[in-house]
Amino acid sequence: MATSGISRNSDVVMYYCCTICKTERSVEIDADFYCENEKCLKYFCRTCINSHRQHGWWFYKKYPYGKDKIRKWPLSKKMETSLLICIIHKGEKLTMFCRDHNHLCCSKCVELNHRRCLQVTLLPQAARGKSIDFKSLSVSTENTLSQMKQCQTYQEDRMKSLKVSYKEHERLIVDGLRVNIVSYLRECETSTVNTTHEHMQYPISEMREEIKYLLADFEKSTIKEKKEELNLKQAPLKVVRNSCIRLHYELFHLHVAIPKVLGKPELSFIASKKCLENIQQSNILIKENFPNHVFTVNGKSVHNVKMPSDSDTCWITAVCALPNGQVLVSDFDNNKVKLLNQQYQVVSHCDVSARPRDMCIITPTEVAVASNIHGVQFITVSQSQLAKGRKLKLQHRCIGIAHNQGDLYICSGTALFKFTLSGELVCRLYEDSSADLTVYSCAVSPTGDRLYIINWYYNKLLTLARDGTLLATFTDPALGGPYGLHVTPAGQVLVCGHLSHTVLQVGWEGQSKLANLATEEDGVWYPESVCYSSTTSSIIVGLWEDKILVFRVE
Ligand SMILES: [Zn+2]
Ligand SMILES: [Zn+2]
Ligand SMILES: [Zn+2]
Ligand SMILES: [Zn+2]
Repeated sequence: MATSGISRNSDVVMYYCCTICKTERSVEIDADFYCENEKCLKYFCRTCINSHRQHGWWFYKKYPYGKDKIRKWPLSKKMETSLLICIIHKGEKLTMFCRDHNHLCCSKCVELNHRRCLQVTLLPQAARGKSIDFKSLSVSTENTLSQMKQCQTYQEDRMKSLKVSYKEHERLIVDGLRVNIVSYLRECETSTVNTTHEHMQYPISEMREEIKYLLADFEKSTIKEKKEELNLKQAPLKVVRNSCIRLHYELFHLHVAIPKVLGKPELSFIASKKCLENIQQSNILIKENFPNHVFTVNGKSVHNVKMPSDSDTCWITAVCALPNGQVLVSDFDNNKVKLLNQQYQVVSHCDVSARPRDMCIITPTEVAVASNIHGVQFITVSQSQLAKGRKLKLQHRCIGIAHNQGDLYICSGTALFKFTLSGELVCRLYEDSSADLTVYSCAVSPTGDRLYIINWYYNKLLTLARDGTLLATFTDPALGGPYGLHVTPAGQVLVCGHLSHTVLQVGWEGQSKLANLATEEDGVWYPESVCYSSTTSSIIVGLWEDKILVFRVE
């Protein structure tokens, strides 16, 4: 039960409150027990249940039901009242049902949104003769409840992980200050050890200045900025977490209420409709924010990206979907980056000096292209034209590339490096020199706390922590010759088995396969690259032999 966070959601009705706290102290505390003794029939919180001795010691343990038996608690009065209220217009009573929109309406709803609808009927009439398929509703409710819990935990874990990395930064800066002051004092000690009292005046003022300077330097440090950055990054996660808690709480209590109103046609009709509406809303939230939400493929189309000027077969080594619905593909053998319009037709291209191996989005109008020994080439998109920008020359091969919030990750074939966008090397995060192409391509989770690497040589997908620590290794028969790798904005992990002609979705923990999303039967043939476009809700797969496949997904 999501009781822990519910009190923080001010717009939530608390369905069961402790009777004692309410009558004696006028506060609403979520109830954890219900005493079913006829002399009692009261709700109790964890604290008040301890002083509940009215029925003698023997009955104390026997009568109250705990929260796990909430199904045996009576229908909450508040639930009964709130069932009859419009979800959109708080305070307005539900009176009608619009069959056109499958929507419960109050008089305001009808006036504002359903005036032209043909099948608007009075509620009692709409509810008459309708029996609820309680079993199937129950199944989908329970499924949604469990996914919402997982989604909530996921958001909380991300928040925690951001906080840990902030704390680490803070510790480094504070340690730095301490070391500077201590070493300065030590220096003073050796230089003043033989000084008499009269001669101390000058060193003291010098020392004062130096320590002042060290402290000022500390104050100027990035701690404050990082703290603001942390709050900024945590804010959207908090919003989703709170929505999870609120929707879960509502759905759980609707679920509990339905069996108690089965004899009342109007109430049970409303409860089941509200349940379905909640499930729909929850599913949208899960789709956008929970990385283990498995894609369902609804259809596909094939598109040819060959240009008349191409002398070789197009080998699509990378795909990037821009927020405006345009798509960029890199064509290895023809040394080109091509821009496709929303219909996936080539509208523009840009010649690159070396074979483009991989590509990632930097901003909505800029990408970075990795090309082996030639380093990184930035390309900007403006008004359906591509223009080459700056270049980064590197000390090693540049086979895979990924970007996350100003950090550039580059695979050299045997190591993963982190760079700044201006090309400064930050560190080497991971290395495996046991064979070539052990670090082939990479991708980053939206919050930056998971890095994924394709180990082509050993047919593996590796998951690393922010600092490069290996967290998980995944392998599967469908992951033969892994090539393309992509993480969606919700954190879903997509990977191509080049030799096994499969596009897989792997859990964000990098430990298990969630699904084979598309296989040879769907036309997947030597997939090279994969990318999800949230603008068009589709997965785009770059193939060998001039083609891309576009799967519409949910
Ligand atoms: Zn209480
Ligand atoms: Zn009692
Ligand atoms: Zn309304
Ligand atoms: Zn309507």
